[in-house]
Amino acid sequence: MSVNLQTPIDYLKGVGPNRADLLRSELGIHTYQDLINLFPNRYIDRTKYYKINELQRNNAEVQVIGVITGFREVAQKRGKRLIADFKDDTETMELVWFRGQKWIRESLKIGKSYVIFGKINWYSGKFSMPHPELELQSEHENNLRSTMQAIYPSTEKLSNKGISNRVVAKIMQNLFLETKGKFAETISNSIREELKLLSKSDALFNVHFPKNPDLLSRAQFRLKFEELFYIQLQLILKNLIHKSKIKGFVFDKIGDYFNTFYKDHLPFELTNAQKRVLKEIRHDLGSNAQMNRLLQGDVGSGKTIVAFMSILMGLDNGFQCCLMAPTEILSVQHYNGLIKLCNKLNISISILTGSSKTSERRDIHKNLENGNLQILIGTHALLEDKVKFKNLGLAIIDEQHRFGVKQRSKLWKKNTSPPHILVMTATPIPRTLAMSVYGDLDISVIDELPEGRKPIKTVHRYDNNRLKVFKFMKDEIAKGRQIYVVYPLIQESEKMDYKDLMDGYESISREFPMPNYQISIVHGKMKATDKDYEMQRFAEGKTNIMVATTVIEVGVNVPNASVMVIESAERFGLSQLHQLRGRVGRGAEQSYCILMTSHKLSNDSKTRLETMVRSSDGFEIAEVDLKLRGPGDIMGTQQSGVLNLRIADIVKDKDILEQARYFAKSVLKLDPSLALPEHKVILNTYRQMSKYRNIWNYIS
Ligand code: ADP
Ligand code: MG
Repeated sequence: MSVNLQTPIDYLKGVGPNRADLLRSELGIHTYQDLINLFPNRYIDRTKYYKINELQRNNAEVQVIGVITGFREVAQKRGKRLIADFKDDTETMELVWFRGQKWIRESLKIGKSYVIFGKINWYSGKFSMPHPELELQSEHENNLRSTMQAIYPSTEKLSNKGISNRVVAKIMQNLFLETKGKFAETISNSIREELKLLSKSDALFNVHFPKNPDLLSRAQFRLKFEELFYIQLQLILKNLIHKSKIKGFVFDKIGDYFNTFYKDHLPFELTNAQKRVLKEIRHDLGSNAQMNRLLQGDVGSGKTIVAFMSILMGLDNGFQCCLMAPTEILSVQHYNGLIKLCNKLNISISILTGSSKTSERRDIHKNLENGNLQILIGTHALLEDKVKFKNLGLAIIDEQHRFGVKQRSKLWKKNTSPPHILVMTATPIPRTLAMSVYGDLDISVIDELPEGRKPIKTVHRYDNNRLKVFKFMKDEIAKGRQIYVVYPLIQESEKMDYKDLMDGYESISREFPMPNYQISIVHGKMKATDKDYEMQRFAEGKTNIMVATTVIEVGVNVPNASVMVIESAERFGLSQLHQLRGRVGRGAEQSYCILMTSHKLSNDSKTRLETMVRSSDGFEIAEVDLKLRGPGDIMGTQQSGVLNLRIADIVKDKDILEQARYFAKSVLKLDPSLALPEHKVILNTYRQMSKYRNIWNYIS
């Protein structure tokens, strides 16, 4: 009889009710299964013993054999600490305890030989080891030892309560004894053979008790593959189910609006990437499944025109369309851009934002419901319950990362059938991340900029070079160019940031006095109407310099602006810097981005600045960003839970992810319902996972 892995952890030998409570609360371990899936953070070599005189001042974790020669207590601010002198044949060091002193004192014996293990500190001329793991040398020698001993994730509370790594390893050992180390296979034979994967049982054993380095790496590969495989399987299945269950409107014709626009009004030749993406969208809209597509394209790659032409496909088939943007400024800009094109084609278009007047709203509501209004542009205001379409066929969301999945689904509910959805993002999401997070969306990429764009020259300058930067700005203004100067606005330090902005504005006003120079300022504390007014003045070329906080971050288009000065650039994230830089380089002129910083820079800041100076490729920048920050931060807290991986690492295990996706796709292509006998293990595992969500709760 095999042991049921859903057995509560309390029943495992060596656990008991107290430890079970701690394992539950500290590590989320409820069952046997949870314990096996507690994967080591790293491995250490427990066959190596150090002499005290070999220790280095490096905070490493080491193992030393010696004897305790005596105890001392030292008073400190609160309570006291217990110190043991520990000696081998070379030197002495100190073992230190801040808690549990009575018990330590009573259980440790002076003069006996111990093996100690832990992190070493160098403190006032001596090595010390706080809260070491200790074992009598005689006992130590009886234990299983390997060159790669697993070190498990832990918490302070666990170690305070005596659940040391040794204890965890011991109960893990008990689990393997009790289950005889036999675990149900979870990957089909054909995949296992093709990838030469270890069996599940061998993989689990070797990840916890590696027999040798080779088996450890094969074990890790197998388990990472499995983890990523099932995530991909789930995402792809979701997508398939979605496509088969949710019928979309069929836009089966390309009609007058599209054709006339294409023939007579297209302002430029489309890039090949734009054409390809339009084809992909056209294919989705023409099939009878609902489109759920993510359009990725670097800043300036020309997503707007693709959006507009997709809208025309909707209008040609008698549907209404909407375009939603995250800010008022952006919505207005889209509206201003599109209304010109719409006028040529006799298309009705309106804009709805938080600051729309009641009378305007009433009109919009009415004309939406009776179908007179064909295109609606706007902010979150579009999601309000009062906004009802007669027949919304396509909803486009610009700058996806600011809208959550919830909001996407809110758009669906505006109709009897869900409209087609196109989400556009200018934050290039590295492929790996997109695959794991947006695996349920189809992805299109515009990976080519319109011709004739000159790459933006990016430089890093220290604050003490400001006068030269001012001089450069003056030269550019003399050539008729416009300039952005951007200050950080980070919520926690809003007051300080605001002061920085105002100080900056003052010094720029002094350097660039009226009437020769005109300066605009835009920041978050201004009323929307004032912001718009200032933005408008700048866009019309009435001001030379736009001093702003990051409110201009997204999407603003002023082709004559050719210089972007970013103040305190070290405080911005990479993707933000890249977005900001994308505000220039939109016209025919050579553009520049100047990153201003102080001399005090962290290593990460240096990497960010160097990356910006070196590269203008949004995807490359996004990869660096992912490495620096980790996936959680990039996706925002909203989605970080999605990537709660147990063993795989989205950045380091990119290749395994690709393989996992490939195999998940092939399996489902061959056998979408997982009905074949050879896929039975996959189906079973998949069902198990959905049942015990505490184990595999990656996907919302
Ligand atoms: P983004 O992808 O950042 O939203 P936009 O759609 O705002 O980019 O396009 C940036 C600029 O490039 C706009 O001024 C737009 O008119 C122009 N543009 C877009 N596509 C092309 C093209 N194929 N050829 C030339 N210019 C283009
Ligand atoms: Mg845009």
